[in-house]
Amino acid sequence: MEASRLAMKSPQEEKLQRLQCSVQNYDWGRLGRDSQVARLFALNSGSRFEPEKPYAELWIGTHDSGPSFLVENRENGVVNGSESVTLKSWLSRNPNVLGDKVLKKWGCDLPFLFKVLSVAKALSIQAHPDKELAWTLHKLQPDVYKDGNHKPEMALAMTNFEALCGFVTIKELKAVLRTVPEIVELVGNANANMVLQVSNHDGEGKVKAVLQEVFTKLMSASKEQVTEVVNRLKSRLHKESQVRQLTDKEQLMLQLERQYPADVGVIAAFFLNHVKLNPGEALYLGANEPHAYLCGECIECMATSDNVVRAGLTPKYIDVSTLCSMLTYKQGSPEILQGVALNPYVTRYIPPFDEFEVDCCILPQGETVVFPEVPGPSIFLIVVGEGLMSSGSLKEHVVTEGNVLFAAANTEIRVTSASKLHLYRTGVNSRFFQAS
Ligand SMILES: [Zn+2]
Repeated sequence: MEASRLAMKSPQEEKLQRLQCSVQNYDWGRLGRDSQVARLFALNSGSRFEPEKPYAELWIGTHDSGPSFLVENRENGVVNGSESVTLKSWLSRNPNVLGDKVLKKWGCDLPFLFKVLSVAKALSIQAHPDKELAWTLHKLQPDVYKDGNHKPEMALAMTNFEALCGFVTIKELKAVLRTVPEIVELVGNANANMVLQVSNHDGEGKVKAVLQEVFTKLMSASKEQVTEVVNRLKSRLHKESQVRQLTDKEQLMLQLERQYPADVGVIAAFFLNHVKLNPGEALYLGANEPHAYLCGECIECMATSDNVVRAGLTPKYIDVSTLCSMLTYKQGSPEILQGVALNPYVTRYIPPFDEFEVDCCILPQGETVVFPEVPGPSIFLIVVGEGLMSSGSLKEHVVTEGNVLFAAANTEIRVTSASKLHLYRTGVNSRFFQAS
């Protein structure tokens, strides 16, 4: 009955659209049997996952590398196979669902890309260029830097989640150089002494310049040199682990070495903050900040872009000189967002970027929650449980885990749970509407 009622209403009139999403099987993903991405993808697409294959990312949005499709058009057989309607092409025919302000600022496209990540081993150390650099890189090397947009991002932990993010303080870096002589070999005595002698009294500019110099030297070391030093450090730490407790960073170094033997990123980890998020905590990354996700599962949201400059922990193309010259060299631990409670069931995470915000909603059985209308589009992803969702019109959608729905701008959404229900909503950052 649900399907026949859907069929009567044309998609253009419907304010809630079911989406079928794309999956990415990158080799750092968790194996199907142990991956939220695999579970949600199978539920979303009605297909099966392969238990021994890695499932890394579920993509919800309009990016060409992993587009989402409208479900109704597929099911009704109005359009089929290769002619399936992508969310992007549907938006281009129904721009009004984005809302005036979003249309004016970002054009006829969803400004954000919403993902689920299941991380078994470290992703590459990377940074995302700001808008100006993104445009320049795209102009100069369009085959490597495929799009010209910036890519601020935020990771909201679903499980315990670990990442490397931003540089450690100069004080911590001094301690590293004093206790890990192998790193001094790679960066050279002169650079090491420069770090040991600089202090915050010398001013921020000077400290950043020193950090840039030493980090660039490290990242530019030859493959042979890195291999040799990593192996020596590894065997020393193995020996010392018999007689003392290794530090957090030393343990991380051994873990990364097992994943990416002889990779300079194994050493670079000593320069970056090791961040551990609890479920429900979020980390955001501005432009030009070095980072690498290490393990765990999260919701990730970003501006619609796939613009990455890589420099380690990867077999992919790495661009050390671009990375080292673009970074901000800001130091110290990143801000962790705990979210703001909007009501007893909904917590909102608001990063300092216009493109997106994320709500986490945990609804006990038999309760109702209302998401007030907002002037931009929203995407809902149900991760656990089932219930009913309505857009104020007569029609109610039965929703279950794995369902993804697009909600048009200026639509109030009401959700009632049949069992304990856990969902995420992402939309354009509310601060964008307040400011404009
Ligand atoms: Zn990133």
